[in-house]
Amino acid sequence: REPVPANRRGVDKTRAEEAPVERTFVMVKPDGVERGLVGEIIGRFERRGLRIVGLKMLTPDRALAERHYAVHAGKPFYDELVEFITSGPVVAMALEAPDAVKIVRQMMGALKPLDAAPGTIRGDFTVDVQKNLVHGSDAPDTAAAELALWFSEGELLR
Ligand code: UDP
Ligand code: MG
Repeated sequence: REPVPANRRGVDKTRAEEAPVERTFVMVKPDGVERGLVGEIIGRFERRGLRIVGLKMLTPDRALAERHYAVHAGKPFYDELVEFITSGPVVAMALEAPDAVKIVRQMMGALKPLDAAPGTIRGDFTVDVQKNLVHGSDAPDTAAAELALWFSEGELLR
């Protein structure tokens, strides 16, 4: 990776609060592919300024889906969720930016349809708590784990 330029290290006082660059795992779920919203969703992240450092389309098998959603195993919605996420192709990506994890979560919008603010992906395009178009890692440690689960090192830009 390129060394961080001086003006991104707090030398320039107007940027003193800039967060470190990080990577997050994002997925357009099967409903997003089916509805033809892949470009819309990726375009929003791109226009915001997140850098795409990994991108592929695949239909997750059950093992991958269960590992990805392991934290939800046993919850009432879990079985249907695994069914849903394995029901068709998804678009998996790695996005990079300062504070990428939180920025993506903000742009996704809240889980409950009524709480998803207009202007967010869920708030603009969904009314369903399950078929909500997009996944984004919820913290830097889960981002690292999910990126390692979905991508091999060679599939990600350096
Ligand atoms: N989900 C669901 N029913 C629920 C809660 C969640 O079907 O009551 C699904 C939904 O697709 C959600 C995913 O499970 O995106 C993971 O849930 P989580 O609470 O982690 O929400 P997220 O991180 O996606 O906002
Ligand atoms: Mg989650």
